[in-house]
Amino acid sequence: MKAKQVLEELKNRFPHEPEYLQAVEEVIGSIEEVYDSNPAFDRYNLLERLCIPDRIFAFRVSWVDDSGKVRNNMGYRVQHNNAIGPYKGGIRFHSSVNLSILKFLAFEQTFKNSLTTLAMGGAKGGSDFSPRGKSDTEIMRFCQAFIAELWRQIGPDTDVPAGDIGVSGREVGYMFGYYKKMAREFTGTFTGKGIDFGGSLIRPEATGYGNCYFLLNMLATRGIDIKGKYIAVSGSGNVATYTALKASALGAKIVSMSDSSGSLIAPEGFTQEQLDYIFELKTYYRGRLYEVLDKYPDGGLEYLAGERPWRHVKCDIAMPSATQNELDGDDARALLAAGCFAVSEGANMPSTPEAVKEFINAGILYAPGKAANAGGVAVSGLEMAQNSQKLNWTAEEVDNRLRGIMADIHARCVEYGRQPDGYINYVKGANIAGFMKVARAMTAQGVL
Ligand code: NDP
Repeated sequence: MKAKQVLEELKNRFPHEPEYLQAVEEVIGSIEEVYDSNPAFDRYNLLERLCIPDRIFAFRVSWVDDSGKVRNNMGYRVQHNNAIGPYKGGIRFHSSVNLSILKFLAFEQTFKNSLTTLAMGGAKGGSDFSPRGKSDTEIMRFCQAFIAELWRQIGPDTDVPAGDIGVSGREVGYMFGYYKKMAREFTGTFTGKGIDFGGSLIRPEATGYGNCYFLLNMLATRGIDIKGKYIAVSGSGNVATYTALKASALGAKIVSMSDSSGSLIAPEGFTQEQLDYIFELKTYYRGRLYEVLDKYPDGGLEYLAGERPWRHVKCDIAMPSATQNELDGDDARALLAAGCFAVSEGANMPSTPEAVKEFINAGILYAPGKAANAGGVAVSGLEMAQNSQKLNWTAEEVDNRLRGIMADIHARCVEYGRQPDGYINYVKGANIAGFMKVARAMTAQGVL
């Protein structure tokens, strides 16, 4: 089957999974030429096998809330592909979680992990459980009930979960603890663990820092210095806060942050004190962004309830770091009209296909999440390596490796994405580079 036919078949078979089909369509659009011109791939229907997950676990998670009421959520783990290493990918707890979203994330993860050059396959899991407003003991009971169902399917050489939206060090700690109890082993089955029990230094920072390192590499292709540039960031969770802190440390001015309630705009850039306060408020106190105004009523800030930042900022660079499809075609046009010349994605698939088309047609620097945010899983891979050697590397060592990995990913995107006119299409580059390694491994291993 030719690549286009594979896509049509998938659209017919999974019509109710829009995010999954969106991710698949983007990849097939990039690799079509390479795939169709290689008969060895088509002989064993490789592309369809690569698009459909190896297996999916779906289960009920029952737990008791603080008032004694029994609650039921859905839990999932999508083990997408393990051609180049054990399944690896985060766990998301958010009310919006469904199978289409997890299938898109697991599919993307497969290509992203391949790009890192580390031995990791792709997976993703999660639940429609929302941690917002839950007590610490409710979170713990939920995490334990979730792992009571999942623990048999994961393991250090089988499937290694980590965090994602709604899952940070606290949730990973509870899940790892329960896994350890059920499996009666202490192994690196989760990454993003606490530093005291096998976690890697720099893992919390890695996705945001990695995105900044990728951005530096992109800017260097045009001789642009990040110093003094205005950067719009969305989100205010793990990825967004570390992106803002690192970009600011590199000399940029951060002009926005957001959460699901609205956006906080700082036209002249947040001060270091404001950025530190946002980090603490969101990371340690799980506060809301509008509370920042209470602390800095005269701090040159504006809060826009229910709004995303893109149409309300003047910026040189955008770093969407909240969630999928949070930047649409109109947002992209507004950014371009305001002079934005680079977009580096911290979130997974934050730009809609229409927005991506706008960026590429405008010839700006545009890095898709699967390349730009791969630093998180790369350091997870380094955490797995440290765990299996029972060693801890220094923060400096991990940070240096992260910089090197992001530079390598950038180089691979350039290698596969440079167009005849010299423009670097990072979408194409990331997809083809990620695909080739997995496809070669699948071909060598036969039909499974
Ligand atoms: P967090 O849960 O720490 O933060 C998520 C942020 O996004 C919060 O500010 C949240 O707001 C906001 N958000 C979530 N859903 C929505 C929505 N529907 N509309 C508007 N805002 C929303 O998650 P992470 O920072 O870990 O993840 C952010 C993105 O980065 C995700 O796409 C994730 O898949 C991706 N990513 C994460 C990696 C990691 O290492 N953590 C690695 C690679 C990619 P609120 O607080 O109101 O919910």
